[in-house]
Amino acid sequence: MSDYDIIIVGGGGAGMTAALHAHRVGATVLLLEADRKLGGATALSDGVVYAAGTSVQRAHGIEDDPQAMFDYIMTLNAWQTRPDIIRLLAERSAAAVDELIALGCTFEWVVKSGVDLVPRGHCTVGAGDAIGRALREEVGAKGIETVLDTRVERLLVEDGRVVGIHASGMDLRAGAVIVTTGGFGNSPGMRARYFPSAAQHGDPVYAVHNGAPFILGDGLKFGEMIGAAIVGHDTGLVIASSGLVPNVVEAYLPPWIMLVNVRGQRFMPENAPYAVSGYLINQQPEARAWALFDESALAVGSQDKSFSNPYHTGYSTQVWDEAVLRKHIATGRIRSADTLEELAERTNVDALALKETVTRYNADAICGTDSDWGKVAPHYFPLENAPFYAAEVRASTIGQTSAGLDIDHHTRVRDLHGRVIPGLFAAGETVGCVQGQRYSGGGMGVASALVFGRLAGEQAAASIGIEARVAA
Ligand SMILES: Cc1cc2nc3c(=O)[nH]c(=O)nc-3n(C[C@H](O)[C@H](O)[C@H](O)COP(=O)(O)OP(=O)(O)OC[C@H]3O[C@@H](n4cnc5c(N)ncnc54)[C@H](O)[C@@H]3O)c2cc1C
Repeated sequence: MSDYDIIIVGGGGAGMTAALHAHRVGATVLLLEADRKLGGATALSDGVVYAAGTSVQRAHGIEDDPQAMFDYIMTLNAWQTRPDIIRLLAERSAAAVDELIALGCTFEWVVKSGVDLVPRGHCTVGAGDAIGRALREEVGAKGIETVLDTRVERLLVEDGRVVGIHASGMDLRAGAVIVTTGGFGNSPGMRARYFPSAAQHGDPVYAVHNGAPFILGDGLKFGEMIGAAIVGHDTGLVIASSGLVPNVVEAYLPPWIMLVNVRGQRFMPENAPYAVSGYLINQQPEARAWALFDESALAVGSQDKSFSNPYHTGYSTQVWDEAVLRKHIATGRIRSADTLEELAERTNVDALALKETVTRYNADAICGTDSDWGKVAPHYFPLENAPFYAAEVRASTIGQTSAGLDIDHHTRVRDLHGRVIPGLFAAGETVGCVQGQRYSGGGMGVASALVFGRLAGEQAAASIGIEARVAA
């Protein structure tokens, strides 16, 4: 006998969405959340939802469709990601946005949040907090049984089938279990194992999940314990960070710096979207770069913070503030020198190459055209007025962990041999086969949680005959 039709582990965006859809078709649902509140990373997020063919896009006169979103994500990933999963994401993303609208969320802006040509980043007014609140209120309104402050410790398995969970000294049984425990950003051990390109930075590593203390990779641990496949190794999103203000997500570097690797070469437009900049920095020798600027850029460029507010959330970074920079110059954390040769010595950057790079960069800055990397920026400062400064930049902020459980296109968790583990479903950031090698754009995390959360709720219910029961 089961205590519930479906038990859902983790009450973030995916978990609450799964609960609502399983409940909608008539399942009895228990939603378990380790934290004292529902919401997880979803409620902390910037609330951008990546979607195509939506009513919001149409209202903004943006022509788009799921096929174009599918093509973009598959091409960006050189088809090294799952077409069945990406097709579902693309085809169901508009419905996810409509559902949020039906729950009271509003979208004022749709932005290009990746490196695509079409604006697909739907910016929720009130950010993730508004999404979290809307879902939470709906879960409450539907009377879905929810237990907070309860961290599930393991899954119950009998004859190869998942039949429930163990938490707080109790076994609870269900017809199906859905794991929606989010990523593993707060677990150094998991980071070392499944995200070495972020973990390599050691102490400066910071995960955006910081405010949600139970984002510890429990879903992956459950999977490991019962032989589930973990896929998407080292494919998470890394974000560029100077670390000048601890525990702050920088996302975009200011356009008024010149970024070079230790060979003294530029390797990207400095204001490249965060969907690509972290990966590019990690690929440089020693996996780091230097942000160079002169006294004019510091005094004038740093006054404009508009680069840090691409999603119109009103956010304004403190990190690249003149006062913050001067403080770090005084302590020596930001290196300074009266000549570029001296600066090269202090940063161990190839001096001859740097001279060559700066000569070209300065000539381009005067005409306002970046002939090497095509940077388009309102403040494009040459390096000419001493003193010159250098701040180290690493891709040491984790924006999304991405590695996780392997699912089929019914969200059923699979084992190391590709076989479905009966009774077990998963959705959201705990799943490892959605994001691919490259983060396609701001909004992919929330979109994945909503789309696959819904599918998991529906499929888990169908797997125990509930769809049929309701239809009968
Ligand atoms: C600051 C920030 C900004 C972001 N901005 C965006 C954005 O704008 N757009 C975007 O697409 N993505 C963004 N992301 C990423 C995105 O929020 C996540 O990928 C997505 O919301 C994950 O949803 P989820 O439901 O899978 O997990 P979560 O929302 O993290 O929920 C997981 C829940 O499971 C609970 N839990 C964990 N283990 C257990 C356990 N053992 N027992 C019970 N409960 C457990 C956790 O406490 C948590 O509440 C951002 C993330 C952060 C933190």
